[in-house]
Amino acid sequence: MTKTYLAADLFQDIEGDPDHVLFNIPPEICQSQGWVEGDTISIVVEDDKLIMKKIVKQEDSESNKYDAFVARLEAAYPKMFAVPYGGVCVDSGWWPIIETLCANIQSYINWKNKESEVVPQVVVAQIKEKFGGLRFYYDGGDAMITGMVRMAEAWADHHCETCGAPGKTRHGGWIKTFCDTHHALRESRKQ
Ligand SMILES: [Zn+2]
Repeated sequence: MTKTYLAADLFQDIEGDPDHVLFNIPPEICQSQGWVEGDTISIVVEDDKLIMKKIVKQEDSESNKYDAFVARLEAAYPKMFAVPYGGVCVDSGWWPIIETLCANIQSYINWKNKESEVVPQVVVAQIKEKFGGLRFYYDGGDAMITGMVRMAEAWADHHCETCGAPGKTRHGGWIKTFCDTHHALRESRKQ
């Protein structure tokens, strides 16, 4: 199916700036291409035809954000990340859940162990996504910590792993937890 767009709908003059225009990409194009806000699109004009040739996904900035998140976690909770562990393999929608969980675990342990060590220090083994759910593997802790971890995992079951919005576990292909928007995006990419 070929769809024609009017230049006037795509380009918009910027008041007081004769050299530049705003370029509005129709949402259906973004969705069909899997483009998201923040992607860089290189546009060329050949034979008077507009060709959106190359999409430079902002992988760098995503991976920088991930590195910064992990560094922040390890710096804030050195006792929990004291030994080599299997990484934090979840998308950014769940990062706040992990940070909150780590904060609660460490402050509980610090409080319990004020006089002497009654609760073994929690040491992270691996944080990952499996079957659409958050998995927080660790050594140490007590029944209270087990409850905190179960609560965080249950919280993740109801929040989109991509953006953190309310969501649910989706089947069909890889089992993932998504909000309606990211579920629809994945479905559209299957076609
Ligand atoms: Zn989402």
